[in-house]
Amino acid sequence: MTKSMLKIDALEKELTAKNRELEIEKAFEKVREVAMLMRQSADLQKIVNIVARELNNMNLDITGVFMLINNNQIDKQFTFWGSTGVAETYMKKAAIPFLDRPIYRVLAEATTKGERFLVEEYSRDEKIEFFEHLFKHPPYNSSTPEWKKQVLSREGGYTRSVSVSHYTSIFVVNHFGRRLSDDDNKILKRFGQVFEQSYTRFLDIQKAEALAHETIKQASVDRIRGEIASMRTSEDLNRITPIIWHELETLEVPFIRCGVFIVDEEKENIQAYLTTPEGKSLAVLNLSFDANDLTNNAVKHWKKNQIYKERWNKEKFINWAKSMIKIGQIQNVKTYQGSSTPPESLHIHFVPFAQGILYVGNVSPLSDEKLELVQTLAEAFSIAYARYEDFKNVEEAKNKIEITLNELKIAQEKLQELDKLKSQFFANISHEFRTPLTLILGQIESIMSGNIEVHEKGKLQIANRNARRLLTLINQLLDLSKLESGSMDLKARQHNIVSFLKNLFYSFESMAESQKISLKFESELKNIPVVFDPDKMEKIFYNLISNAFNFSVSKGEIEVGLNVIDSIVEIRIKDTGIGIPSDRLPHIFDRFYQVDGSATRKHEGTGIGLALTKELIELHKGNILVNSKEGEGSEFIIQLPQGDFEIKKDEFAKPQTDTSLQLNGFNLTETEEKIPVWDSSGSDNDDILLIVEDNFDVRNYIADIFKSSFRILTAQNGEHGFSMAKNEIPDIIITDVMMPEMDGFQFSKQIRSNEKTSHVPIIMLTAKAGFDDRMAGLESGIDAYITKPFKAKELEVQTQNLLKQRKLLRERFCKSTIIKPSEVSAISTDQIFLEKTIQKIENHFGDYQFSVEQLAGHLNMSISQLNRKLNALIGQPAGQLMRSLRLQRAADLLKQNAGNVSEICFNLGFNDHAYFSRAFKKQFGCSPTEFKNQTT
Ligand code: ADP
Repeated sequence: MTKSMLKIDALEKELTAKNRELEIEKAFEKVREVAMLMRQSADLQKIVNIVARELNNMNLDITGVFMLINNNQIDKQFTFWGSTGVAETYMKKAAIPFLDRPIYRVLAEATTKGERFLVEEYSRDEKIEFFEHLFKHPPYNSSTPEWKKQVLSREGGYTRSVSVSHYTSIFVVNHFGRRLSDDDNKILKRFGQVFEQSYTRFLDIQKAEALAHETIKQASVDRIRGEIASMRTSEDLNRITPIIWHELETLEVPFIRCGVFIVDEEKENIQAYLTTPEGKSLAVLNLSFDANDLTNNAVKHWKKNQIYKERWNKEKFINWAKSMIKIGQIQNVKTYQGSSTPPESLHIHFVPFAQGILYVGNVSPLSDEKLELVQTLAEAFSIAYARYEDFKNVEEAKNKIEITLNELKIAQEKLQELDKLKSQFFANISHEFRTPLTLILGQIESIMSGNIEVHEKGKLQIANRNARRLLTLINQLLDLSKLESGSMDLKARQHNIVSFLKNLFYSFESMAESQKISLKFESELKNIPVVFDPDKMEKIFYNLISNAFNFSVSKGEIEVGLNVIDSIVEIRIKDTGIGIPSDRLPHIFDRFYQVDGSATRKHEGTGIGLALTKELIELHKGNILVNSKEGEGSEFIIQLPQGDFEIKKDEFAKPQTDTSLQLNGFNLTETEEKIPVWDSSGSDNDDILLIVEDNFDVRNYIADIFKSSFRILTAQNGEHGFSMAKNEIPDIIITDVMMPEMDGFQFSKQIRSNEKTSHVPIIMLTAKAGFDDRMAGLESGIDAYITKPFKAKELEVQTQNLLKQRKLLRERFCKSTIIKPSEVSAISTDQIFLEKTIQKIENHFGDYQFSVEQLAGHLNMSISQLNRKLNALIGQPAGQLMRSLRLQRAADLLKQNAGNVSEICFNLGFNDHAYFSRAFKKQFGCSPTEFKNQTT
């Protein structure tokens, strides 16, 4: 060989080597390109194919190319991609059970260690054994017998070059036992590196993909949770299946139908919510556990928390749909199919979760990976559904409570409304009763006052008495309803409660005498000032005294006692009557309660009296207690705060402040309240002086003059003065002429024309002493004038004079049994009043139960008003007058010889002969019989 030839040869070799290098680089370029274009993990096969193809294109002396990925996973099963023979043949993945022979073991050891290159050689026998093992397993088991035969018949052993990297390995084999050249082994090594690089890229993509996948899954799960969390009612469950449908789509789970089954273990029932392939709600099936084989199997697996799979063909689907129509669960096969034809094949997958089953139906079976996704969905669904159930339960409980509360409220409102209507009706009807009753009473009385036979009169008296009782009762009921509605106002002022009660108490004198009951009145003090409403106090006291009489026995005693303990006035009303059993005591203040409620009870009554009494006392901020012993008697104790208890100013009779006075620039009330110059509450006088005067100083001056001899009342104008006079019935009035609102003349006229006040003497203070004034004064019934400025003495003397005149007049009549109104008073109103009073008494002569209260009622007055009026006019309180008139009538009848003593006694309402005789003797100085004998 020449030098140049050598050189050419060397150059040629170099060129060949360079060409080879170029070839190799080109091949690598192709592999890298595919690797770079790889977008998803599924592209791994492409890499395997291109590496194999390019390696085959290298014209190596090889029979096949094989690749291992995940080097460390080949201990039990030998997994590889491989191609034997032609380069274009697809690399197929094979998994061959491990064969414990060097031909397996060496490779396994090398790959698990990584990063090595090795060349192996095996004998023909070893080769044959190896292939026979291979041919038993897929995919080699399906190779043609010719090919298998060809492989096994090849001469020589089995040579292998292996390039091992960290993750991957490539090996090439020669079925004839020929070794690769060193250069070729180098090429293999380089291919190994390129494959490893490409595989690394695949791993990156796989990781990114997994991450993305997880994100999608998570988002899907989140959406399910969100949707379910927004569900409130069981109707919302219809929304579930479209949601599941949507999420299966997102998670790329293949399906043609899906649904959610809610399993109710208690009711052994399944609610199946199904959806169409379009994601619309398709049907809600209500199936019992044992409805059919499918439900049976589904429940059986659900209980064991196992996935249940079943395959349906077209026929089975149709049969199922028909059976659903039969039991009324679906209406139409077509809509249930979701398309015109039923699916050719349906693979049913039931994935269990705590409360039910997630159903996915697909044309082919779902892979494990997809089933796992479905399971994730089911779990997410389960958690959210549990929350929904909790929520629903709470909501339901809340709703139930709300409904109950609402019902309660409505019932309450109705009850209140009813109650209101009832008391209104009650008040209205009671009111309505009064008018006809008054008319009935008027008619009865008018007949009684005429000339009628004695026994007819007796009948009328019964009618009259009962009508009166009815009226009292109605008045009590009206009072109660007023109290209840809060419309009962308290006209409270300060009064001496001792004289007030004493007067009231002794008006029962004649009743006491006739029932042989002795009365006793005791008070530590002569004067106890208490703020109270006289009208209401009278009702209170009257009720208690009446009860004491009603439940007393003959020869008993009724005692009223007063004392003051720590500004609390205690009034005791004690009787020696039948008493109250201890078990009944707690109830006697209840409305309509009667100790003896039997039809045969001895005492009449309604059980209203004490209830009303108690409420009226409470209106005065006081309270009432009772002590009683059956057979021994009862004691009622009233405790009243003495004076300064808080009664709102407008609860008093009339506001003291007068607007017109304020307009004049002074506020007298304020001054008055600040400097009290007299304290009438401390006076123990029963005589009342009313001063009506707008000037504070004058008022004060007059009050000062009389403060020791009178209980003083003051008013700032005529109007106020008049209302005070009506309530209190003063013994004398001193009034100014010029006053705002109502002047002295108008005031006097009103006083004279009102029955309650017409008798009261009036002294007028006037600055003008002219004739006109006097005339006006006379017409308005003024008794005396004092011209301003006046001296105290002058006023005192004038007052005393007037009172003395009255006293003399009174004394004339106080023992008299014949009262001639025209002799008593020159004032027409007084005369009319007296006539009326006498008439009323005479009309009831035969009625031994006719009481002072009834008389006062007839005259539209309270007992104390009546007593004050009669005392002032004739010096006889009502009770006495009634007795006097009766006795006089008796005397007249005896004189006229109109009957025997007993008859006359009875006819005049004396039901007790002895009492009549005693009273008669006291009045006329001899017994009725003696009187009769003397006069006839
Ligand atoms: P009435 O007397 O109209 O039935 P009251 O409310 O005044 O109604 O009294 C309720 C009941 O209390 C009476 O029925 C009577 O049994 C009992 N009661 C009241 N006062 C006395 C008393 N002083 N002694 C015995 N029992 C009495």
